[in-house]
Order: sequence, then C-alpha cells, then structure tokens
Amino acid sequence: MANVNIDWDNLTFSYQPVSKRYVANYKDGKWGKGGLTEDATITLNECAGILQYCQEVFEGLKAYKTKDGRVVTFRPDLNAQRMYDSAQRLEMPPVPKEMFLEAVDQVVVANKDWIPPYESGGSLYLRPYLFATGPVIGVKPSDEYQFRLFATPVGSYFKNGIKPITICVSDFDRAAPHGTGHIKAGLNYAMSLHAYITAHTNGFDENMFLDPATRTYVEETGGANFLFVTKDNTIVTPKSDSILPSITRRSLMHIAEDLGYKVEQRPVKLAELKDFAECGLCGTAAVICPVGKVVDHGKEIAFPSGMSEMGPVLTKLYETLRGIQLGTVEAPAGWIREIK
Ligand SMILES: *Cc1c(COP(=O)(O)O)cnc(C)c1O
Repeated sequence: MANVNIDWDNLTFSYQPVSKRYVANYKDGKWGKGGLTEDATITLNECAGILQYCQEVFEGLKAYKTKDGRVVTFRPDLNAQRMYDSAQRLEMPPVPKEMFLEAVDQVVVANKDWIPPYESGGSLYLRPYLFATGPVIGVKPSDEYQFRLFATPVGSYFKNGIKPITICVSDFDRAAPHGTGHIKAGLNYAMSLHAYITAHTNGFDENMFLDPATRTYVEETGGANFLFVTKDNTIVTPKSDSILPSITRRSLMHIAEDLGYKVEQRPVKLAELKDFAECGLCGTAAVICPVGKVVDHGKEIAFPSGMSEMGPVLTKLYETLRGIQLGTVEAPAGWIREIK
C-alpha cells in the first residue's frame, strides 16, 4: 500500500475515511463470514430498524504505535465483551467476541499506513458498531443486522497542552434508573446532545449528570466517567447502575491500586465535591482530562488542583496508563494486544 500523505502533527478528532473497513451481516439467525471492504457507504432500506427504533450499539478504541515501533491495541477484549453486553440489552444478536477481535486486527493491519507515528501523540481510532438493517414497522427487534468497524486517524487529545476544563451540573438527565445508561448505545448520545449544546452555549466544556431519581449523586458526563482524589490521596469513582463502565476508568483504578493508592467505588454525593483535591474525566479519547471547576447553578466548586494543570495524583495515573499503552511502562498481563 502506498504511504499516505498526512500532516500527523495537526490531526484533530474528526472523521477521515481510510482504505478499508470490516463488514459482517447477520441474517437467517446467524452471522455470515465478515471481511474487509473499500466501500464507506451504507445503503439501507427505508424501514431499517436502526432508522425507526434506533437499535444500535457501538464501541471506541485505539491502535497505537509504541516507542519501539510495534502496533498495539489496549484491552480490546473488554470492548468486545462490552459490545456483547450492550447488544443483549437492545435485543440484538451479539457479535461473537472472536469476530470482534478479528475485525480489529484486520482493519488495523489493512490501514497500517494510517496509524500516526509514536512521536505525534496520535492514534488510529477504531469504531466498531452494530445496527439493525432489517425492516420493522411494528415495534419489535429487527431480524437482520450489520456489524462494521472503521478506522480514522486522530491527533493527540492534548495538542495544546493539558488544560483543566470547567463543567456544569446539568438540568437534564442522561440515563433513567434501570434504563440504558450502562450500555454503549447511540440512543444515550442522541438524548445528551441537547444538554451538551446547552452547556456549551452557557460557556461550559461538559455536563456533570446527576442520578435522575434524587439528583443528589454524581453520575458521569455524556461520554466519560469521573475520578476524584481525596485530600488524603484516595481515588474515588462513583458507583451507579446507570454509569457506563469505562474501560479507561477500570484500568486506572487497577493501576492506582498497584501503585499503592487506596481506591473506592461508591456513591458520590454532589455535596461532597468541595472536599476533593482533584477531579478528572476518563475515557479512551483523553485517558484523563482534568476538571478544574464544577459550577452548580452559579455556585462554583473549584478543586485545589487549579485551572492550569492536572493534579499530581491524576498525573501519575495518566502517565502510567499512557506509558502502558505506548510500551514504555510494563503492562499488566493481557492488557496489550500486539498486531502484526
Ligand atoms: C465510552 C464511554 C465512556 C468511556 O469509556 P472508555 O471505555 O473508557 O472509553 C464513558 N461514558 C460513556 C457514557 C461512554 O459512552
């Protein structure tokens, strides 16, 4: 394959089609053999389940070039498992985990010229997704589905340096109790967009969503989990059935424990935010994005870590996880899948 002509240092987080993507179809009660295609366009029946009743689940992960030139993905088995669980909640046929991992490998290998170099801080973002293609007009699950996985090169999240963000406590809810907040489905994002635009219009970077039942506990943002650090260096993350189980957050909690920090997953009251020393958002996109300030209807809660840098404990966790992904820190067994 010809090398591609990209300005690696100025990549943003936006879609840019690359050579090949993976497609597999589910029909007559079973998955067909999947494979690569150059066609980035999907043609759907007007009555397809995805268009009428929004049956869709997705994942997001990255392929990285390590310092010594290897190509790796980070815990893709957990993405495969999470998409399996998400699909079951929406009555969709889960993508077999082996097929998911095979799709990741094939797409990364086929587009290897599009993986940003180690020095750029960028990565090849991978987007697996499963959606209903069969027609449904009466409300029921579709009979036919398509699984796709495409790749797009993305730049370093912190191109202009790591700057803490300001978030607001939202008046909208993200996920109902006993609803779909714990699965990665497009529908959770569709209904968070209005809250997101509202926050932006009001000058905030993101929303802090509260538990819808009592509006007293912290849940998450539209696309990232919270990590807090107490003044005596305990790492705390909110516990709730309607939070999406972030792989980054679970990995950071594991690393924190290995580094000797005390970690807690428990309900976190909005009222206790003022007692924390550091706050961050975690997800695949940034690993950790520091939060400097939370604004609750005019009341400012400023974390002692401030508005100019990430706090020391989150920095330690961030650097350790980035090191594991980029091959400069030894990874716990099974965390890195090398792609050859
Ligand atoms: C994807 C996602 C996250 C982050 O999960 P990672 O596996 O760490 O990328 C957090 N919250 C929501 C709502 C998400 O959709």
